This record gives sequence, C-alpha cells and structure tokens, in this order.
Amino acid sequence: MLQVSLGCSHNKCTYCAMYDDPAQKFRIKPLDEVCSDIDEAAGYAARGIVVRRVFLCDGDALILPTEHLLAVLAHLRERIPTVRRVGIYGDARSILRKDPADLARLRKLGLGIVYHGAESGDDEVLRRIVKGSTAAEAVKAAERLRDAGIRHSVMVMLGIGGAERSAAHARATAELLTAMDPPFVGALTTTVVPGTPLASQQAAGEFRLPDQWGLLTELRTIIADSRFTRCRFHANHASNYLPLSLNLPADRAVGLAQLDQVLRDRDLGALRPEHWRGL
Ligand code: SF4
Repeated sequence: MLQVSLGCSHNKCTYCAMYDDPAQKFRIKPLDEVCSDIDEAAGYAARGIVVRRVFLCDGDALILPTEHLLAVLAHLRERIPTVRRVGIYGDARSILRKDPADLARLRKLGLGIVYHGAESGDDEVLRRIVKGSTAAEAVKAAERLRDAGIRHSVMVMLGIGGAERSAAHARATAELLTAMDPPFVGALTTTVVPGTPLASQQAAGEFRLPDQWGLLTELRTIIADSRFTRCRFHANHASNYLPLSLNLPADRAVGLAQLDQVLRDRDLGALRPEHWRGL
C-alpha cells in the first residue's frame, strides 16, 4: 500500500465515512515523500522480501495529475523492478479526466488495474448517494480503460437504493455491468455507518435497507440479468450474507441455483451470521 494522496477528492458519497475527519482532507502527498517511501520499500526488497503488487492509495488516487503518477510509477519501476502490477482506486470522474494518451502512458509504466466503485446503474440512486457521476459516464470510463489495456475491477453495492428502489437498482446495475463488461466485479452489501448522511436519512425514515432476502434478491437479479464476456464475479466480501465467487457466464446456473435455494428456504442459519459480517 503506497500512499500517494490523503483522503478523497470527492468525499461526498452519502454512505462513506472513510475520510470524515478534517485531518483527512484531500491532499496530494509530495513526490519526494512518496519516492522516499519507495526507497524504503526497496530496502525491504534488498533483504529478500519480493514485492510484486503495489496499490496506490487513498480513495480515488487516479485523480492525481498524470505527470505526478507517471513520476511515481517510474520511480517504482526503477527502485523495485520485481513489481508486476500496480493498482489504484478511480471512479468515472477521475478515469474520464485522463485522456486516452494519458491512460496509455500510465499503462506503459505499470498501472495495471483500476478499482472503481460504480455502486449502481440507476441514475436516480447515483444522484441520491451523490456519487458524482452517471451510469453513462461509468460505461464510457470502462471503454476508456479497456482501450488503454488497463484492467477494470468494478464494485457495486447491494441495498444502496434502499427498499424503495431495490428492484430498479438491481435491474439497472445488471444493465450497467453488461454495458461495462469488466473482467472483475465485486458485489458488496451496504452497511449504514453511523455519522454518515445515509445514517441520518435512515434515522429520518428516508432510507430503509432491504432485509437479507431483499439484498439476496438484488444479487440474484444482477447475476441473472448481466451478460459478461468473461468475468470473475465476487460476492464474498465480509459484508455479504451469502459468500459467492463465480466465473460468469460459466457459473451462472450454479450461482442462481444456490441463491434460489436460500431464497426459498429463508433459513437464517444458511447465511453469514451478523456478528461475522463487517464493512
Ligand atoms: S469516492 Fe470513494 S472514498 Fe470518495 S467519498 Fe465516495 S466512496 Fe468515499
């Protein structure tokens, strides 16, 4: 984990409590400090610890100027040549701020994968959670990464539309994933974190999370309706009630059969216990 920025430049998503401390206000870490962290890690490598993967953090670090990121990647390549893949968080805003030539240069210097919280394909949900981008922009971002040869891992959130928009959110999210066609998808379950705007909306009765069965019904819709060329689909995050890890489309029938059985039996014992679940 290599810190290249602090906080998140957007910092408005209603469910997010990652950077609500004023001390975590977004800023770019000076290049000389990042390079000195890389030099320190190179020292570990010299002692036999082989570093193959590096993740550039914090949230949405792809928003950093291209030249800054290129300088980080170049220093990494020079000082730790064993690194095979560099990952970063980005979203539709930060991906689309990079033109195709920028992304190609980043790819050439080792940027291999962008982790992108798309969350929903429903523009009304995206507006309510203040995601700062639309479904159409997420599709465009996916195309831009694909064209640059950068892999794309997309996260979506079960329950983020609330009980009221649950079905529309699930259908639109399947449509979005089909249009994006990423090689990796992670479906996480929304957790209402105290202190967030979403928690205030919940307290005011403006947001109600679907129950376990509603959340799993969303997951079923997403798996049933989305169409991928080839996707590693994970729904095994700690927040999820029923851990699933599927290769789609090959494992679609297996995944749906498992979900159908659980939704038919409604046996809480078949789900991950609440005290094992986490963010
Ligand atoms: S873009 Fe990510 S880190 Fe930033 S506010 Fe939204 S969820 Fe939080």
